[in-house]
Amino acid sequence: MSLQLHNTLHGKKEVFEPLNPSRVTMYVCGPTVYNYIHIGNARPAVVFDVLNRVLKQHYPNVIYARNITDIDDKIIAAAQENSEDIAVLAKRFSDAYHDDLKALYNEEPTLEPLATDNIDEMISMIESLIERGHAYEAEGHVLFHIPSNDNYGALSKRSLDDMIAGARVEVAPYKKHPADFIMWKPSDDNVPGWDSPWGRGRPGWHIECSAMIRKHLGGTIDIHGGGQDLTFPHHENELAQGSCCADNEQYARYWVHNGYITIDEEKMSKSIGNVRQVHALLKDHDGEVLRLALLSTHYRSPLNWSEDLIVQARNRLDSIYQALRSCDHEAADITAIDAKVQDALEDDLNTPLAISALHECARQLNKSTDLKEKTELKAKIINSGYLLGLLQRDADVYFKGSSPDNGLDETTINNLLAERDAAKLAKNYARADEIRNELTAANIELEDTKDGTRWRYAS
Ligand SMILES: [Zn+2]
Repeated sequence: MSLQLHNTLHGKKEVFEPLNPSRVTMYVCGPTVYNYIHIGNARPAVVFDVLNRVLKQHYPNVIYARNITDIDDKIIAAAQENSEDIAVLAKRFSDAYHDDLKALYNEEPTLEPLATDNIDEMISMIESLIERGHAYEAEGHVLFHIPSNDNYGALSKRSLDDMIAGARVEVAPYKKHPADFIMWKPSDDNVPGWDSPWGRGRPGWHIECSAMIRKHLGGTIDIHGGGQDLTFPHHENELAQGSCCADNEQYARYWVHNGYITIDEEKMSKSIGNVRQVHALLKDHDGEVLRLALLSTHYRSPLNWSEDLIVQARNRLDSIYQALRSCDHEAADITAIDAKVQDALEDDLNTPLAISALHECARQLNKSTDLKEKTELKAKIINSGYLLGLLQRDADVYFKGSSPDNGLDETTINNLLAERDAAKLAKNYARADEIRNELTAANIELEDTKDGTRWRYAS
């Protein structure tokens, strides 16, 4: 089976055929670093991390770029509010972003360009758009002129009338068309700015991505990804800039968008007070559990985030790790992937089906009595889990790693277990029971096996 992806541009699933199989390119819009990321921002990072793993399995050279927007009016406003330097604030939140993504078991992208490192490319792209009659300067601003591009609206399937209706509120007087969008704007002395042919100013958000793609990946990329909320206007505008700055330029071959996240069936919003920041979730939950929760729904479907979802994810991960832990033998030295996991992922990244297939492998592992079969199943679970970014830890580390705050530490637990073993040997069952009760009260679950007692932090 070959990889199929849903392409927003054509509104259907298509077989993925890269322009150049020896250099596959993917660009995903990264964060604007003015705050901690919430679980909705983490979803594309995890989804495209899985896609990157699947692509790398098929192609030897995958270049995955995910940008950091480190200049934006939201960053300027947040820095002013804190009386903090803009660059310091942007660095602080981009570090936090990296920490959060690492804790969710994401691999690093191949490239992570910063907007402020690519201003020259943005300026030269804007210049060529002006030259080609797609953009104009007005009062220190440079705007993209939408009627100059016949294909505008092709990605988001919007007509010019819809866009005029959407833009009716407060149309700036210097706009030739109400839907024209800003690529460059003037900066006064209080905000960061760069010299340009149009005076000191700074880029708009859309031009950042188009220019970074052109510089780092080339004229046409294979996959452009991001959240569904970016389709309009951000991606539509990126497409307009990228396809109009050179002759016959195809900007991106496959546009892949992930769906929204709701919180307990409600829209996530500051005003409702239900924003779930990743760094806060990680204080209470294991990152791998959160990752499985994010992948438990197909990426294009809306995902409803709730405590129940996290509990279900933890139970599923527990049961697979439990199967791995109960097989005392090393995994076989094979690279095979479970065929059902592979097929599910190649069918437009059907992660819920892939997770069910992993679960099925774990059930077989629990049932099997054949040593060769067991070690092969164990290897298949681990190899297939890698494609999802799951199950790469030692099962013991997984069970012991998710210590709740104020819980007993590992050394204390091991000392108590040693004392319990000694008590049992001395036939002091009262003391042995007392220790078990003490551990149960501290939320530690014990499992007595022929090889000794195993323990884990209970959910
Ligand atoms: Zn972008």
